[in-house]
Amino acid sequence: MDLDRILKKPQAGELLTEEEAAALLSLPPDRRKPVYAAADRLNRRLNGRRISYVFNRNINFTNACSSACAFCGYRVEPDDEAAYVLSPAEAVHLAGLTPGIDEVCMVGGLNPELTFDHLLAIFAAIHEAFPHVHIHALSPMEIEWYSSRAGLTPRETFTRLLSAGYGSLCGTAAEILVDEVRRIICPSKLSTARWVEIVRTAHEMGIRSTSTILFGHIEKPVHVAAHLSVLRDLQADTGGITEFIPLVFMPHNTPLGRAYGIREVAAKEDVFLLYAVARLFFGRLIPNLQTSWCKLGLDVAVETFDYGVNDLGGTLMAESITRCAGGKHGEALTCDQMVAAIRGAGRTSVRRDTLYHILNAPGGAKDGPLAHRRPMHSKNDSSQTFPRSLPGQSTTW
Ligand code: SF4
Repeated sequence: MDLDRILKKPQAGELLTEEEAAALLSLPPDRRKPVYAAADRLNRRLNGRRISYVFNRNINFTNACSSACAFCGYRVEPDDEAAYVLSPAEAVHLAGLTPGIDEVCMVGGLNPELTFDHLLAIFAAIHEAFPHVHIHALSPMEIEWYSSRAGLTPRETFTRLLSAGYGSLCGTAAEILVDEVRRIICPSKLSTARWVEIVRTAHEMGIRSTSTILFGHIEKPVHVAAHLSVLRDLQADTGGITEFIPLVFMPHNTPLGRAYGIREVAAKEDVFLLYAVARLFFGRLIPNLQTSWCKLGLDVAVETFDYGVNDLGGTLMAESITRCAGGKHGEALTCDQMVAAIRGAGRTSVRRDTLYHILNAPGGAKDGPLAHRRPMHSKNDSSQTFPRSLPGQSTTW
């Protein structure tokens, strides 16, 4: 492999091929340094020294789920005595426990006891109580679930969600967007094609989404490369993805961990490589790469800043999905802790909203997005545009 030639491509604005991404992901530890350096160089070109974060809170409206993903340590059976469904009033109460948040992030299990109307009532109640808080909620799998149960198309489901104050779609349930892997780790979940179709529908309606990958289990480099390629192709068409969030598999308390004898989280060197390759593969198409402090721990998350990362993610407040799968890095950080961690790494902290608008730029500036792409219709997005990057980010490289 001509490593120099491959690593020059992103710097010149050329796209890496899927095969080149797979080759980079297969590099042995002693050949990875140039990849790390290229990712860091590209990130600094796109995002400077800025590391952003969002002041948010997680609200999991139900833990009961009739599915059985092999990697999940969160779900309980719908008839389990620990199963719960939040009422709209309880959800509002939880959202109000953290004054000043800019976002609530809301996902839950596929609970046959929870109707779409109940879910709409939860969103509407939060939106009414906190109209400025962006509701970032539901995965494509949940959209599929509520659509089929309510007899609606995904487009009709999104329309009703928008009426209830819905803001943007969680890019989870992606896991690995390769069906041969999905059949093993999440056989009941929607196919790769359906996942893409639902996210594309959201984007066409002006609803932004995040994007994720679940890695560090049974996947191979070719699967990761194929996954990145699916996301990049989608983004090239719609421009609706705000960020990419690699999520490392937490094996504890999970059927997948037990079945495959996976007892440890992926080595941090392998985590760094995935971040670096993702940065190089997405380039300016998806300029925001988010680390995950609740899975990696804050110290390692801060280290990822040198491997292409430009976002520390959310304060989370009451994160419980990772904790249930053995996560030991806490359920919340304060904004002060986020800022201290970013500054401690010699970077500039930037508080942002869900759609990457800066809320406290250095010097107190308040800016809108730098680059736009197409009209937006999202109720929670006053800019009515698809921002591609934070203000001040370079658009040429
Ligand atoms: S990952 Fe989600 S859909 Fe899968 S079992 Fe867990 S709660 Fe259910």
